[in-house]
Amino acid sequence: MTFNDLNIIPAILKALSKENYTKPTPIQEQAIPAVLAGRDLLGCAQTGTGKTAAFAVPIIQLLSEQPNKPNTQRRIRSLILTPTRELALQISDNIQAYSRYTHLRCSAIVGGVSQKAQEQSLEQGVDILIATPGRLIDLINQKHADLRHVEILVLDEADRMLDMGFIHDVKKIIDKMPSKRQTLFFSATMPPEISKLVKSLLVNPVKVEI
Ligand code: AMP
Repeated sequence: MTFNDLNIIPAILKALSKENYTKPTPIQEQAIPAVLAGRDLLGCAQTGTGKTAAFAVPIIQLLSEQPNKPNTQRRIRSLILTPTRELALQISDNIQAYSRYTHLRCSAIVGGVSQKAQEQSLEQGVDILIATPGRLIDLINQKHADLRHVEILVLDEADRMLDMGFIHDVKKIIDKMPSKRQTLFFSATMPPEISKLVKSLLVNPVKVEI
């Protein structure tokens, strides 16, 4: 199996080949077609399996096939929530690389650094936002971030977000976006509270396990 067999658009194929990715990892083989088909996804996978490209590549493809209208303000169309700053920045770097030949913009919103630059990048417009929950709540409350046009939500390392006490914030954030959306949910473990969240958020999900 090659990325070509997964019906990936040329702009992304070119970026993947620049990253020296020659063939999809098992989770990418399973997840990419499901996400491209518009399905919700439940992934039980650890970091190191190629999980990031498994959700990022089809998101980039779906959004670039239906771009924001020219000359209108960009809207946040995909939100990726992660538990830590390091993970958010890493995902943002990956998405930057995979989308380099598209017109999409992505940006990371994390705590522990000045908020000003983050406000400015939101002001300029972002298609794909990667965020840790605390700082995102602040920016939503201050009306710098608007989630009313989110089409695809990713919850990455959901079990770690639970362990770190972020679940309440995560639920508050989800309340700010449309209920009609595609949701991709990743968790290495499935404790009862995570299963409950899965049941409330995912509609008939495709399950991928690595
Ligand atoms: P992740 O699990 O998303 O953190 O990815 C783990 C590492 O594998 C990262 O350094 C990626 O750049 C790399 N990677 C992801 N997908 C592929 C692929 N299809 N071929 C080669 N390397 C990959």
